[in-house]
Amino acid sequence: MAMINGAQSRSVSAAARRFLSSNLGLQIAEQEQPARSGGLSDVINPADETLLARVPTGEREDVDLAVRAATSALASKAWAGMKGRARAKLLNRIADLIEENAALFAELECLDNGKPLLHALHGDVPAAAESFRYYAEWCVRIYGRTVDPAREGNFHAYTSREPVGVVGLIIPWNFPLLMACWKLAPALAAGCTCILKPAEETPLTALLLGRLIRDAGMPPGVVNVVTGYGFAAGAALAAHPGVDKVAFTGSTEVGKTILAAAAGNLKKVSLELGGKSPTIIFPDADVDAAIEAAAGSIFYNAGQICAAGSRLYAHASIFDQVIDGVCKYARRLRVGPGHQPETEMGPLVSARQRDRVAGYVSVARESGAVIVSGGDRTDSSCGYFYSPTVVTNVESTMPIVREEVFGPVLAAAPFASSEDLVATANDSIYGLTAKIWTRDLSLAHTLARQLKAGTISVNTNLGADLHLPFGGYKQSGWGRELGEEGLDLYLQMKTVIMGL
Ligand code: NAP
Ligand code: MG
Repeated sequence: MAMINGAQSRSVSAAARRFLSSNLGLQIAEQEQPARSGGLSDVINPADETLLARVPTGEREDVDLAVRAATSALASKAWAGMKGRARAKLLNRIADLIEENAALFAELECLDNGKPLLHALHGDVPAAAESFRYYAEWCVRIYGRTVDPAREGNFHAYTSREPVGVVGLIIPWNFPLLMACWKLAPALAAGCTCILKPAEETPLTALLLGRLIRDAGMPPGVVNVVTGYGFAAGAALAAHPGVDKVAFTGSTEVGKTILAAAAGNLKKVSLELGGKSPTIIFPDADVDAAIEAAAGSIFYNAGQICAAGSRLYAHASIFDQVIDGVCKYARRLRVGPGHQPETEMGPLVSARQRDRVAGYVSVARESGAVIVSGGDRTDSSCGYFYSPTVVTNVESTMPIVREEVFGPVLAAAPFASSEDLVATANDSIYGLTAKIWTRDLSLAHTLARQLKAGTISVNTNLGADLHLPFGGYKQSGWGRELGEEGLDLYLQMKTVIMGL
């Protein structure tokens, strides 16, 4: 076996080292196992390009085994017969185990994704635990209704809500643990059985979570984790006739292939896709707060957020002030390896992602855009770092304005009137979120109506919240995750009509 050098680094804790060298396998029923093909893929630390571990590359045959395990678990007395209250207890137990292992989760997330350790520890991990606690509360609140039929006669009719069945959960690399929990928690609350396919770049926390879910006492086969490539494991899951639903988060491009693959058995599909969300600042706003928020919205997690405020529109009268403020924020931001406590922004997840982001900025520069801050790979000798970047003089036709860059790159332009602004802000194939900064209530509510996005935030950066439905207009997705709506994605309704 090749040297797993990344795990030997002195900055890696003994617990993480133990986990990384623990023979990570596919988790199918109660077994951890290699892929049938024997294939493995490298898990790389994006901060120093070292190898952390190798994980199996599951393919169609492995997915097949996992679907079989999930199908038999769905019919098992242990799971199908489990009362809501017992499911709630199990979900709370999973939350406890996430909290008990918070330091290890945060470290693995930092090593694997590159994000600052402290962001993972205080952000991702508690939010992951909380999603299990929240959906635990729904386990005992899954109700139907009684309805009087239209037809003359004596009937008793009611609806009930049942789990959709075997669900495939395909997630990206930007918030690996949190994305897994945002799908697993409602799916389990609803009584589904799951096959989780983490991103090839970031499989580690999904594998730790899978082990803890088993330790919590989950019946075998209810949660299966199949690591592997999207084109193999992911595509097999999306196309599998035994899968009743696929919940996907990732790029719009892959979202479309999921839909096509799902057509075979018309499985249910929910899609959480890309965005090109605008931050909009009016001159009457608390401009300092708006600047902080605009910068935070694009530089947090190195811009690798579907709801990132990647377009900035500031009123012409304050445009220079806003750009100046955002650039100061960008230059102040401490970029470095995530394990260093002072780091505020880590590397991008992979060389591919760093090159993709750099490509967008080069193309913009060649087309006449001005890079007012950043625009380079930083001076670190290794790691996939890219500096926080602010781009002005952009045209609405440029890829940097139209496409999801998924990096710390802000494209900014001034606007003259709110009419122009609405047309410009809505000129996108995406419609995930929009952020408005103004003290004018009437303007804020009018824009909230006019902007075509699933979530509108006014005078706050809060865009996604566990209790609130989240999802996209237009090509940003299908369906709403989180909140009660997030539970509905994993339930289906049955109508029972009885003649009396
Ligand atoms: P992606 O390809 O859409 O990946 C998301 C997930 O889908 C991963 O688990 C991926 O597996 C899997 N996948 C890939 N191809 C598949 C297929 N044919 N069938 C089923 N599953 C498949 O995203 P990416 O390539 O990692 O990133 C590319 C761009 O997508 C980013 O630059 C960004 O613009 C966007 N993105 C958006 C979000 C979001 O939350 N909106 C998240 C991530 C990325 P692999 O890991 O093996 O590819
Ligand atoms: Mg990695």
